[in-house]
Amino acid sequence: MRAPSEVTPLLQDGEIRGFSAVDGKPRPPTRVTPEAEVAEAVKRARAAQVGWEALGFDARVRLMKAATRRMLERRSEALALLLEEGGKFAEEAMFTEALGPLDYLKNWVPVVRGYLKPRKLPIPALAYPGKRAVTELLARGVVGVIAPWNYPLGTYFKPVFPALLCGNAVVMKPSEFAPRTGEWFKSVLAEFLPKDVIQTVHGDGSTGQALVRSGIDSLVFTGSVGTGKRVLQLAAEMMIPCSVELGGKDPAIVLADCNLPRTVAGIMNWGLHNTGQDCGSVERVYVVNEIADRFAERLASAASRLISASQHPAGRAVDVGPLNNPRQLAVVEEHVEDAVKRGAKLLTGGKRTGEGLFYQPTILDGCDHTMKVVNEETFGPVIPLIRVRDDAEAVRLANDSVYGLNASIWTEDLVKGERLARQLQAGTVFINNHALTGAMAFAPWTGVKQSGYGVANSVFSPHTYTRPRTIFIDKNRAPDPWWLPLDSVMGEVGERLAKAQLGQFTAAIKVPGLFKRRAKTILDFVKGN
Ligand code: NDP
Repeated sequence: MRAPSEVTPLLQDGEIRGFSAVDGKPRPPTRVTPEAEVAEAVKRARAAQVGWEALGFDARVRLMKAATRRMLERRSEALALLLEEGGKFAEEAMFTEALGPLDYLKNWVPVVRGYLKPRKLPIPALAYPGKRAVTELLARGVVGVIAPWNYPLGTYFKPVFPALLCGNAVVMKPSEFAPRTGEWFKSVLAEFLPKDVIQTVHGDGSTGQALVRSGIDSLVFTGSVGTGKRVLQLAAEMMIPCSVELGGKDPAIVLADCNLPRTVAGIMNWGLHNTGQDCGSVERVYVVNEIADRFAERLASAASRLISASQHPAGRAVDVGPLNNPRQLAVVEEHVEDAVKRGAKLLTGGKRTGEGLFYQPTILDGCDHTMKVVNEETFGPVIPLIRVRDDAEAVRLANDSVYGLNASIWTEDLVKGERLARQLQAGTVFINNHALTGAMAFAPWTGVKQSGYGVANSVFSPHTYTRPRTIFIDKNRAPDPWWLPLDSVMGEVGERLAKAQLGQFTAAIKVPGLFKRRAKTILDFVKGN
């Protein structure tokens, strides 16, 4: 097997050549899309979008339901790709990704149906007599989707389904670490959707840049903060709306009155599942001194018994798979080394294990805010513990981060939990759980600070995929009273309307009569009388 550190760069001779994270074996290559073809793909998508939107919402839902049923029927193919490209074993990948598409689509349908309903505007009859208007929501056109590798299916269907439901065509750029999973997802959708409504382009960051420059109408970017900032700059130059859903460094606060077994299990799960490669992973644990020894000991003991290698006893499964790629493994090693050098105590883990890119589930105690493992996104199977005096110190330190995606509080005092939750700077704060709304189409998934302001999921999200168009209808035959030419009657109308706004409603009684006088004056003027 080639040493993992030797497997970059992935792009060679116009192809993406990846290696399996599980055993280091080469994966079949994927052709890189040349820049000119990226623009061509967007042109074709633009042409196809018109018919797709004209089909209407119900027809789109029917076709997409058929496609997502097919995805579910073909789940074994998805699971094989998730293992090959993501190093995700079936027992986990089934629940975090392969089971998702049909259910997720069904959850989106009522949200988008409600959102797309035309809205009658509440035009005040006194100030604007004889007028009505309706705002309709139209598809933006072609939505670009740039996705990371950590959930190679989930991070596609999260933006692609609402974009399509709203009537857009989509051109997506999968990560160079998961091109074939992206291609599979597209090809199953394409079996059911009109030609060119969904397309993929492949390559590294330069293909992503080409997509942003290609004439798309809106962009959903999911990825790291650094890349997100570069993408936002280019999107600003292209004047396209861009939803950025970026990294996290989620804190969990463990209070003395928590249910200890559930808290240990919950934090172990949310810190280590998907090998910690989750924007919503627990990446910092603030544990109050009173319970810290017991919590640390139980967490380390449990984590050390997880299986993190492809060999395992019958009846068990791989709990913590390999890192997805050598670059990520290097970050994990660097963070753990830095923490230990600065005085953190390694309770368990801290080494590579097995073949491929496996790294032992790692618990570090005695961490503080000078350490990379507390300040920067680690994106690996590492949980740093920071001991604190009380809940006030925990909240202060939890908020001391450039990230703000999710946070959680573990306590049996739900009233206190809710009070503390409102003090945390995060898109979602959980009490006695963490990050599980990521797969719920009806729950907003968003962050504050550098976690990005994009909103995935929920009624707050379709703005990325739609634009409002208002149709304004005036049934008056007479001119509007405030049109030119002006005269002193306008002054009186203004005074009366101001008084009415201030609560002196009788002042408004004469306004309709004054409007009539004004209309007559304007008509006489234009007739030359
Ligand atoms: P990156 O930012 O490295 O890459 C994300 C995507 O952007 C990839 O497809 C990448 O292509 C592409 N890309 C890279 N450079 C550019 C560029 N200059 N212009 C346009 N596109 C570019 O992130 P990772 O793939 O490493 O993913 C991990 C990150 O994603 C973590 O920070 C994680 O927290 C975040 N994330 C956030 C989520 C959220 O909902 N908030 C959900 C999931 C992940 P290529 O891979 O080919 O280089």
